[in-house]
Formats: sequence, C-alpha cells, structure tokens
Amino acid sequence: MEWETVIGLEVHIELATESKIFCSCSTAFGAKPNEHCCPVCMGFPGTLPVFNKRVLEYALKAAIALNCDIPEYTVFDRKNYFYPDLPKAYQISQLYSPIGTNGHVDIDVDGTVKTIRIHEMHMEEDAGKLIHSDIDNVTYPDYNRCGVPLIEIVSEPDFRSAKEVVAYLEKLKMFCEYMGISSCKMQEGRMRADVNVSVRRAGDSAFGTRTETKNLNSFRAIEHAIEYESERQIEILEKGGTVRQETRRWDDEKRVGSSMRSKENAQDYRYFPDPDLLPIKIDRAQIEELRRGMPEFAEEKKARFIAEYGLSDYTSSRVTADIKLATLFEDAAKGCGAPRTVANWLIEIMPKVLDDCGVAFEDAQIDAVQFAKLLASVEGKKLNKNMGIKALEQLVRQGAEFDFDRYLKDNAVTMEGDEDKIREVARKVLADNPKAVAEYGQGKTKVMGFLVGQVMRAFFGKVDHDAVNRVMLEELQTGGQR
Ligand code: ADP
Ligand code: MG
Ligand code: ZN
Repeated sequence: MEWETVIGLEVHIELATESKIFCSCSTAFGAKPNEHCCPVCMGFPGTLPVFNKRVLEYALKAAIALNCDIPEYTVFDRKNYFYPDLPKAYQISQLYSPIGTNGHVDIDVDGTVKTIRIHEMHMEEDAGKLIHSDIDNVTYPDYNRCGVPLIEIVSEPDFRSAKEVVAYLEKLKMFCEYMGISSCKMQEGRMRADVNVSVRRAGDSAFGTRTETKNLNSFRAIEHAIEYESERQIEILEKGGTVRQETRRWDDEKRVGSSMRSKENAQDYRYFPDPDLLPIKIDRAQIEELRRGMPEFAEEKKARFIAEYGLSDYTSSRVTADIKLATLFEDAAKGCGAPRTVANWLIEIMPKVLDDCGVAFEDAQIDAVQFAKLLASVEGKKLNKNMGIKALEQLVRQGAEFDFDRYLKDNAVTMEGDEDKIREVARKVLADNPKAVAEYGQGKTKVMGFLVGQVMRAFFGKVDHDAVNRVMLEELQTGGQR
C-alpha cells in the first residue's frame, strides 16, 4: 500500500524594522542578554503598547507579494498563555481579523509549477529566549527578542514532499529579501517553521491526523523532521494503531522527534481583542502605492538578465538568487560593459576571494563602480586574471575605502601587453630550455605550461597571460624560426 505525506506550514518571519513592534527598543541580533528591553516589552503592568507603523508597511508588502486579500480593518488580539519566555503572559497576535487571507504562492519543483494556498498571515510579537545552562542546571531568560515584530504565514496542507516545502521556504525568503522586509537568516532565528505532518493511503480523500513539529530553524532540520515524522506515522498505522494529535519537538543532532504536549486549541488561549490597541484602518491608497512599488522579483529578473545581458539560464539563476548579488551584477555590468565577465567573476571568483578574506558576502561592502573599473581593466588587458584577483582582495578588505585608480598608482600595477616584448622573452626562455623544447617536439605538449610559467616569472606575473600563451604556442610551432 502506497502512503502519501501531507504537510502544512506555519512560518514565522522576523521583520527587519529597527525597533520593536510596540516600543522603541532595538531589534538587533547578538546583543548581551536583556540589553534591549524596556517596561513595555517586558510586560510591566501599567505600560501601554504603541504600534510601529513600519511593521504595518512591511506586513502589507508581504500580504501583497503572497496575493492575499487585505481587510478594511485589521485587529490585534491577545493570545493568553504562561511560559517563562513571555513575561506578559499573553502574546499580542491576530486571530479574528489578520492582515492577509486567501493568498497563494507558486513554487517550482524540478520544472513543475505548483500553487500553494495561503490560509492567512498575521502580525504578532516574538517571545524571549530561554538559555538552558548545563553547567549550573539553571535556565536563564533573555528578553531581547520579546516584541521583535513577526509575521506568521499559515499555508493550507498543500505540500506532498519535503522538496516542495523547501522550494516554498526559499520563495518566501526571496520575496522578503527582495522587498527588504527580512533577512530571513535561519541561523539567527529570523525565519522558523512549524511543520504539520499527516499521512494517508494514496487515493484517500480524507486527511489523516496531523502532528505539529515546532520551531525548526534550518532547511536540513525541516527535511529530516518531515521524513522522520511521516515514517513514524506510517509505522503506527501499519501496525493498526492511531496517530495522536500532538505538538512535537525535533532534535536535529540526534535526528529524533519527541512528544511535547497534546495539541492545544484556539479556545485554550482565550483570545480576545487587545483593549490597548485600536483596530487599524488600512488605507487603500497605501496598498496601491505599495503595489506599484513592488520590486522585480527573482524570476522576472532572471529572464530579463538572459535577454538583456546574454547570460545563460544557469548563470542568471545564480546571479538572481540574491538581491544584493543581482544588484551588484547589474550595476557593474552597466559600468564595465562586459556582463558575462561580471557574472563569471561574481560566481566563480568572488566566493573564493571572500572566503580568503574571511568576509561573508552579505556583510561585504563592494562598490559596483570600483568593481566595474577593476573588471574593465581585466577586459582591456591592463590586468591579467591574477592581478585582478589581487585587486579584488583589496576591494573586499578595504570596502568603501577602496579606490581602484589609487590602487593602481600606489602599487605601480601595470601589465605588459606588448607582444614584441613578450616574444623577445619567450625566445630567450626557449633558448635557455632546449630540453623542454625537445620534449615538446616529441609530443609532450604539457611542457608548454612550464615554459609559459617561465615567461610569466620574467615579468613578475604582471603580463597578459593570454598573450603569453598565444606567443609561446606560435614560437613552439614554428620552432622559433621566424
Ligand atoms: P491550528 O494549528 O491553530 O489548529 P489549523 O488547523 O488551521 O490551525 O492548521 C495549522 C496548520 O496545519 C496549517 O498550516 C494547515 O495547513 C496544517 N494542517 C491542517 N490539517 C493538516 C493535515 N491533516 N495534515 C497536515 N497538515 C495539516
Ligand atoms: Mg498552530
Ligand atoms: Zn522595549
């Protein structure tokens, strides 16, 4: 009997506003515990929340990108529960009139497009973090994350594989990054998913009982948890048992899931409209303005880069996978007029240089104008590839300080491109290495690499590599008899 896995997702995304959703504390990641807190986000009695307008703007952008219906009024509700990471003992969230409903997103899995329906999306505040210390066997609460704005996106149970789930999460990440509303960095917990899984026999129309695995924060953990949970449920059902509806946790190191609690219902939270916050009337003109300002997303950009800059399908996908990369590509391509060189350097060479410099691309300050000048010099044979890479290292290390013209002057970087001079040196190298020349004559063409290397050395590497290759080949083939 064939089994089918059914998956529905609840994705939490932290919005990249500078301050929190109801107070002016910072949302920055990595501060000392409890440094970014105030009486409002700590939930002291008598304090009042003040809604951050930017959160509404970002959430509306997301609702538009996800093709949601947007209501006339949106309302905040209190979701009541006690847990030590939530000092107020209620989370300000939305239940009755969320910011978006009935949306959809198209995903592409191995060339097949599938539509995933979005049940709803809402705004809410994040909770704190609990740090469990094994040393003194104590749990320390860190409330910095309390009040960081979130959107939660709830899908319909439309996924049938982990691959579809990953494609969807990548699409959400792309939307958010392109619109600049979240970094979606999973390693910082900026994007987390609760995964609802059930199984049914292929052909059945009714869904099976589902479990919800909470707070998965890497694509790998999500894939593993889905695989584990569907196998666990199939095993239970094949033995004639029943799956219990419950909330589960996942340990990705041990690769095992375990039960946390039986599932709670909306009623358990005693939701009610937050009396401290007025319903928000959503301005239709603002929606239209945001709609007009929607960026060109990855797919469209990819197609345009192929048409406009002659990139291959593969190269264009790589370049548009990241908005920062796509923007740098386009600015530099316009600046130096050699789009394919720009793309190849960004894909092939840049990652290695960044790695050598210990800089992450997302943190790197790469000025498109300087990068374009550098590549124009490589294209114009003023620098060879290795010299270009050295300059790029300086560009990455110096960031905004880097000035390509000054770099050339300060380092007296010029490349020999005069073929006559190259030929003169090449002939001398051949004369000095009769053994290698003889070997070449016997068909050992590999020795050419050695001979070219000698010429490069004579110029201290500052020579047009292509020209050296060309001249050397000519000299070898004519036996220096010209
Ligand atoms: P709640 O968790 O508040 O009860 P829902 O019942 O709407 O909310 O479902 C939450 C998530 O569970 C949604 O993402 C939905 O797609 C998913 N889901 C619902 N039923 C199933 C099912 N039988 N199998 C897998 N996922 C499901
Ligand atoms: Mg739920
Ligand atoms: Zn605060």
